[in-house]
Amino acid sequence: MSAPRAAVLSVGDELVLGATLDTNSRTVSGALRDAGLDVTEHRTVADDRAAIEEALAALAARNSVVVVTGGLGPTDDDLTRDALNAELDGGAAQVEDPQARADLEAWFAGRGRPMASINLRQALRPRSARILRNLEGTAPGLAARVGGARVYCLPGPPREMVPLLERDVLPEVRPEGAPQVVARVVGSFGIGESALAEMLGDRMARGREPAVGTTASGSVVSVRVVARGADAARRADAEAGECARAIAPYAFGRGDATLASSLLDACRAARRTLAVAESCTGGLVGGMLTAVPGSSDAFAGGWITYTNELKSSALGVDRGLIERHGAVSAEVALAMAEGACRASGASLSVAITGIAGPGGAVPGKPVGTVWIAVHDAVRGSGRARRFEFPGARDIVRDRAAKTALQLARWQLAGEDAPIIWERP
Ligand code: AMP
Ligand code: MG
Repeated sequence: MSAPRAAVLSVGDELVLGATLDTNSRTVSGALRDAGLDVTEHRTVADDRAAIEEALAALAARNSVVVVTGGLGPTDDDLTRDALNAELDGGAAQVEDPQARADLEAWFAGRGRPMASINLRQALRPRSARILRNLEGTAPGLAARVGGARVYCLPGPPREMVPLLERDVLPEVRPEGAPQVVARVVGSFGIGESALAEMLGDRMARGREPAVGTTASGSVVSVRVVARGADAARRADAEAGECARAIAPYAFGRGDATLASSLLDACRAARRTLAVAESCTGGLVGGMLTAVPGSSDAFAGGWITYTNELKSSALGVDRGLIERHGAVSAEVALAMAEGACRASGASLSVAITGIAGPGGAVPGKPVGTVWIAVHDAVRGSGRARRFEFPGARDIVRDRAAKTALQLARWQLAGEDAPIIWERP
């Protein structure tokens, strides 16, 4: 038996005009696919009743599930409810739903705000539709049958849409006996996609179960494992574990883990604290670390020492060292890292000094030349490594910051490997 067909319809002028990125269709189709449906099509229409109606009818005619997002707000340009009503009940007067009205009143009461009368529209539903309660906002969702299709209209804001999708839509549309599909992701950094594929070897062969593939984004190469059928979760986990071992030490974490979150976890596990001294990355490493909730228990802080003067005054880098070797040198990177540990009391630090470009190249130091040092105060030793990162300024900076995180992680784990951009 083939999987039921599903389609996603996004509604909103802002989406059609390119002001807002349509992330809902991606979220919804990923969830539908994982639930075992066959997602056949995405459509996006403006806040135009006729266009919504036409798209709804067309998608419902050739799919058994249609998920619509957006256009459920209280204002005149929110027309999904009316379009569904026209499709279902020929435009007959809608009815006020007591539960929706009570939820709306409670929502405003809970915030100590009076409810505007236009909000009452959001308690209306077509006679043949039912309400999907929204506890995160004011727009309830709607569910109905249009011909042979189950149609679900969900609020546009992703924060409100996702709970309704998970609570009301997925359990109803998941086909009985659908093969379970479980995906797991292993993130890696510091190696190219083709070299990684070689390390994974036969695991990536087409037709293997679980299936293993790679995707690259922001210089992170992710290994995606997809298992189908009985016991899928256990087999996906096992395969992901094998893949991570095959590509160690480049693999830094599973699922939503980032280089920063994995490094912070490693610091916590080793009871270490981390400091950073950044020049050409201008705070990117600190930004990546502090983007992780709870980073304060492992990340002490750091310095953006852009000028030579500040490298000396803040981190105690010897002026003579800078004069002799230049600011972009192993010696200065090491002195910055050591200074960061000394000045912060952290037991591990990374320092970055380089030429992000487009200007600034000197003989022997082309644009993209970056020295990254890791200082380990527990072992009382440091190591600096030289890189030539290709790409425009933002890419050089991003790769340098991520490389620093990976090198610090390796230092804690006692691991080591060549990094693709390393030019000793
Ligand atoms: P609406 O339900 O149409 O009032 O949508 C309210 C807000 O939700 C919009 O202003 C967008 O910020 C957001 N939104 C609506 N549709 C989408 C979508 N497909 N992807 C991401 N955000 C969306
Ligand atoms: Mg809208």
